[in-house]
Amino acid sequence: MAAARTAVKKPKTAAQRKARIERLLAVLDQTYPGATTELVHRNAWELLVAAILSAQCTDKLVNALTPGLFAKYPTITDFAHVHQAELAQDIRQTGFFNNKARSVVGAARKILADFGGQVPRSMEAMLTIPGAARKTANVVLGTAYGVASGVVVDTHVQRLARRLDLSKQSDPVKIERDLMKTIPQNRWIVFSHQLILHGRRVCAARKPRCSGCPLEQLCYSKDKTV
Ligand code: SF4
Repeated sequence: MAAARTAVKKPKTAAQRKARIERLLAVLDQTYPGATTELVHRNAWELLVAAILSAQCTDKLVNALTPGLFAKYPTITDFAHVHQAELAQDIRQTGFFNNKARSVVGAARKILADFGGQVPRSMEAMLTIPGAARKTANVVLGTAYGVASGVVVDTHVQRLARRLDLSKQSDPVKIERDLMKTIPQNRWIVFSHQLILHGRRVCAARKPRCSGCPLEQLCYSKDKTV
């Protein structure tokens, strides 16, 4: 007869909480070494465009579309000059195409006008760019430049932060603030991508695959299926 599972206990002391986080980070490193964005790109501008297009859309669909898009508009100047309605048609499949076209054209114009045609390297500057809220800015700064400006909080990170008791908040900005306090800064970039991969592959919204989850012994979520 199989041994009964013991319920995972919530850590009580600061030392226990610290040890749990260290173990959690170690398991994520073992499971998702070198995790990074799945958005295909060759430079910071292409990553910014891909990140804007990925809102409410899968990375797979964005990756299928961007090679043709960057062949049609090879430079940031090409994007700054395209008619917004034409770009909207080019990116139609990604959904919310009018808003996204407005953001991409606006971002290209802003970067040319204020940043010499280079995607800036600071959060403060990134937040002045149309279409670049903190999530997008963190993806670009972290992945293209290795600048740890924060933690990417997408829908997966929102869900997992709660399930793993890393935040009790539901607002992405507050969740990010909690994560930035708990996770060491030198882990912010990779940690974001590790959680996103874990959310996609194992800890799904509806049916988390807890029996095969490498974090199961550290997880006391009410959503657990084991
Ligand atoms: S044990 Fe289940 S709920 Fe907890 S992190 Fe793993 S998959 Fe998610």
